[in-house]
Amino acid sequence: MLDSEGRNIRYLRLSVTDLCNCRCLYCMPADGVPKLRHEQILSFEELERIVRAAACLGIRKLRITGGEPLVRQGIVELVRMLSSVEGIEEVAMTTNALRLAPMAQDLRAAGLDRLNVSLDTLDPERYHRITRRGNLEDALAGLRAARQAGFGPTKINCVLMGGVNTDEISRLAALARDGAEGELGVSSVRFIELMPMGECAVWPRDRFVPADIVLDALPGLEPVERELAAAGDESACGAQGTASERGGVAELYRMPGWKGTVGLIHPMSHRFCSECNRIRVTADGRLKPCLHSSTEISLRGLSGQKLTQTIARAIASKPRQHHMDATHASESLRAMNEIGG
Ligand code: SAM
Ligand code: SF4
Repeated sequence: MLDSEGRNIRYLRLSVTDLCNCRCLYCMPADGVPKLRHEQILSFEELERIVRAAACLGIRKLRITGGEPLVRQGIVELVRMLSSVEGIEEVAMTTNALRLAPMAQDLRAAGLDRLNVSLDTLDPERYHRITRRGNLEDALAGLRAARQAGFGPTKINCVLMGGVNTDEISRLAALARDGAEGELGVSSVRFIELMPMGECAVWPRDRFVPADIVLDALPGLEPVERELAAAGDESACGAQGTASERGGVAELYRMPGWKGTVGLIHPMSHRFCSECNRIRVTADGRLKPCLHSSTEISLRGLSGQKLTQTIARAIASKPRQHHMDATHASESLRAMNEIGG
């Protein structure tokens, strides 16, 4: 469906839980967030109903996110239900991969096509410090298992934090050296600018670094042709929008001789709003036409035509652009763990 700006809205990011097994410094408070009550979270049937209605309106790609989607009980069954919805052509998931290894085969068999795995460091101690809980080896085991289970090429999302992980850019980028055929099956490593939302909204300015510093750290990177980029990339975790028909928000580069790509995602220093093709639904059933706006439309209790019409109205009301930048925090009332990135 076209919104009022003529953007073709084809992509739904669905948060299936607000809970997470990590407490990443930039995303969640150390003690976690007040847990939503069971009845506040969308049931499997409600999630399926929303995806059906969205598919009727032209949504073709679904990304399952959270919180951490793999902590939602019955996630394999949920993937099976959602991937069977008529009209949905691709189902992807954004995950920290800590629980992925034992579930990878079942998720693949249930119809999950692709994974984006969040990984901000390759240093085990630093990983534990950033995630406040996670064990790097579990995430790497998840990546290996995904490759063995036959997932499409996996992308790594790495949030750049000045003075925290910027010294690891080369090492992280090198995960793409062997591409999808490598041990971890990584086709692209995408570096994402930290967005001032939730926990990190009050962080010092020097933590917010432009993604272009990746080009300083890896001067040999060469831009990938647009046509190749369209085939190889799709939208990023936190970035506000995607080059809809072209396929992605990441600016793609390749090191000569590497099989995979290195992506730069600039939600802060560039705006993608004019090409944004996505809407989001939070775990408690609120549709967000824009990640960085406070506007939310409740879908709770709706079904049939009423549900479809409400989603259609929300798409039509999608704002032209957001106003977040280095001096203005996101206007969203929620942190990323609640929205799903
Ligand atoms: N738990 C899953 C994960 O970490 O992949 C899915 C949800 S998480 C909210 C989705 C993505 O949002 C992650 O890649 C995370 O790094 C990113 N993210 C969270 N807060 C962010 C922020 N303030 N700026 C940029 N990216 C952020
Ligand atoms: Fe959890 Fe993902 Fe947020 Fe980290 S970024 S705390 S893994 S929801």
